[in-house]
Amino acid sequence: MTEVRTRRETPTVDIAGIKVGSDHPVMVQSMTNTDTEDAKATARQVAELARAGSEVVRITVNTEAAAAAVPEIVERMGMMGCEVPLVGDFHYNGHTLLSQYPDCARLLAKYRINPGNVGFGRKRDDQFSTIVEQAIEYDKPVRIGVNWGSLDQKLLAALMDENARLDSPREAQQVTREALVVSALQSAEQAEKIGLAHDRIILSAKVSAVQDLVAVYRALAGRCDYPLHLGLTEAGMGSKGIVSSSAALAVLLQEGIGDTIRISLTPAPGQARTDEVTVAQELLQSMGFRAFSPMVTACPGCGRTTSSFFQELARDTTRFVREKMPEWKLRYPGAENLSLAVMGCVVNGPGESRHADIGISLPGTGEAPVAPVFIDGKKSVTLRGDGLTGEFLELIEDYVRTRYAPGG
Ligand code: SF4
Repeated sequence: MTEVRTRRETPTVDIAGIKVGSDHPVMVQSMTNTDTEDAKATARQVAELARAGSEVVRITVNTEAAAAAVPEIVERMGMMGCEVPLVGDFHYNGHTLLSQYPDCARLLAKYRINPGNVGFGRKRDDQFSTIVEQAIEYDKPVRIGVNWGSLDQKLLAALMDENARLDSPREAQQVTREALVVSALQSAEQAEKIGLAHDRIILSAKVSAVQDLVAVYRALAGRCDYPLHLGLTEAGMGSKGIVSSSAALAVLLQEGIGDTIRISLTPAPGQARTDEVTVAQELLQSMGFRAFSPMVTACPGCGRTTSSFFQELARDTTRFVREKMPEWKLRYPGAENLSLAVMGCVVNGPGESRHADIGISLPGTGEAPVAPVFIDGKKSVTLRGDGLTGEFLELIEDYVRTRYAPGG
C-alpha cells in the first residue's frame, strides 16, 4: 500500500508501545457498549473488538464499581490472550475515580478527558488538574476530547459575547466551531502547565455534522501539532452512519489530518459491535493508506446474473478471508494485500479477474455453466458444479500459503 498524501507532522505519542502521530499508521480505535461494571461481558467485548482489528479499545469508567472492575477486566483479557491497550473514558468524576482506584489508573493505557464534563467553576480547574496529575504519576497519555454535545458552556458564552460586540458578528455556528477548537487548545495548554509532556497529548473535537467536522479539524490542525483523533460523533445507524463518517473522515485523511480514527456507529439490535472496526479498516484500506484484510472486488450484478449464486460467492469469499485473517496475519505476513475478484459474467469477468491476484468469472444467464479462475493474471483452472465455492476458497488458501509463507 502506498500513501498518496503527506501526513501532518506531529510529536509521536506512545500508547502502551503503539506509536501514534506523524508517519505512524493511522490507528483504528473502538469503544465497548457493555456495562463496565460487568467485567466478564466487557472483557469479552474488548477481546472481540481487538480480534476484529481494533488497536486500542475504550471503555467508559463512570462509577466506582466500574473503576473497581478494571483489574478484573484486564485479567480476563489476559486469560483470552488479549493485550490490546485499554483507554478509560472519564466524565464528571474522573478525578475521584483515578485517585481512589490506583489499580484502575495504573492498568489503563490512556485516559480520555472531556473538558466540558470535568466540573464547573473553580472546581473544574482543580478536578482537571487532579486527572492530569494522575496521568503524569502513572505516565499515561491523555486524549483531550471535546464534544459538540458537551461543549464548555462558559467558554461558549464568553465567545458569543465577544462576537456580539464585533462590528460584523460571525454566525453562531462559526462561533461554536471556534469554541470547540479553543476548548481543546486551552485545555491542552493547561495540561502542559500542570506538567503533562507535549508528547503525551492527543486532541479530538467531535461533532455530528460532516461540514462542521471538516472545518473544526482543519482549524485544529492549523493551530497545533498534537496528534488528532478523528470521529464523527453520533454518526447514526446503518448506511447513514457509515456514509457520513466516511465522507467526513476521508476529506481530512486525504489532507493528511488524523492519526487515530473511530467510526461511531449505532448498532441495530443484534448487530455486531465489531462492525465499527470493519468500517474503519475498510475506509483506510479503500483509500490506500493501510491494508488489513484481502479486498474482494465484485461487480454489482445485473440482468445477466439472475441466480443468487454470484452474490453468495462474493459474500462467502469476503467472510472467508476476514475470518482467516487473524491466523494469516501471524503465519503469512503480507496476506492482507491479496486482491480478489468475484465477477458475475463474461462481460467484465475475465478482465477484472486478470487484474486481481485471484479472480473468478462466473457464468451469467445463458452462458455455459463453467467458471474460469485467473491467478496472477493468467487463466489457471475452470471450476464447475456444486463444490465450486469450496474449491475456490481452497485455491485462495493455497495461494496465501505459497505466496506469503515467511522466506517463501
Ligand atoms: S460483470 Fe456481467 S454480471 Fe457483472 S455487472 Fe457487469 S455485465 Fe452485469
